[in-house]
Amino acid sequence: MTTAAPTTEIVTIPCLKDNYAFALHLRETGQTLIVDVPEAAPIVAECARRGWVITDVLLTHHHWDHVDGLPDLHAATDSPIRVWGAAADAHRLPALDHALHEGDVMAIGALRGTVYDVSGHTVGHIAVHFPQAGVIFTADSLMALGCGRLFEGTPAQMWQSLSKLTALPRDTLVCSGHEYTQSNARFALTIDPENKALQARATRIDEARAKGLPTVPSSLGMELDTNPFLRAKDPQIKAHLEMTDASDAECFAEIRQRKDQF
Ligand code: ZN
Ligand code: FE
Repeated sequence: MTTAAPTTEIVTIPCLKDNYAFALHLRETGQTLIVDVPEAAPIVAECARRGWVITDVLLTHHHWDHVDGLPDLHAATDSPIRVWGAAADAHRLPALDHALHEGDVMAIGALRGTVYDVSGHTVGHIAVHFPQAGVIFTADSLMALGCGRLFEGTPAQMWQSLSKLTALPRDTLVCSGHEYTQSNARFALTIDPENKALQARATRIDEARAKGLPTVPSSLGMELDTNPFLRAKDPQIKAHLEMTDASDAECFAEIRQRKDQF
């Protein structure tokens, strides 16, 4: 017996100064998954406005700007909330109901999500891909035109993490954790100046930001074509960096180091 794919809706919820939380709602069952809780108020307000009941929370990593709103969210919600997060980070995350390992499947109603270990920004950072909804929640691993700063992991580790995501369908929505895209675009153009798709995207980003519009989520295809951190294996980028003979991971490390100094 196969279960019909659930009908889903995804909403981006701006929080704090430049964070994003997301709500993934299942229409048939009314369940709603919140991804990261920078602060509770905007999430509670958005769900109340839509009549959505929060049933699940996924925490992508332990940083305060992704978890600190959880106690307030519990307090503001009458029904119990199941909390999902990485088993590797259980010691430094709020109490988890479900501790996840790479390859585990999150099940919410008929919705299924596959867990990826995307360590690098932190060790224990996870991303979850929901193929039925065509979305991956990447927070501070793969970001719009960027990737998270390496606070805990090595460049080789982040390169390996990002490489896991490149085979997913190009139309997968990439829901990342921050509105950093405009400065990421300025940096990307220093690494990949001849890339026409990047130039065009940078213009669209400037237009969106001038109107105060979010640039997240993006699509995986767009990231594959324009994000320098996913393109560290590209011969044109290697040539531009005078790293023709370097490994992909070495080229990634150089790009990440330049970004830190940008
Ligand atoms: Zn973070
Ligand atoms: Fe963050």
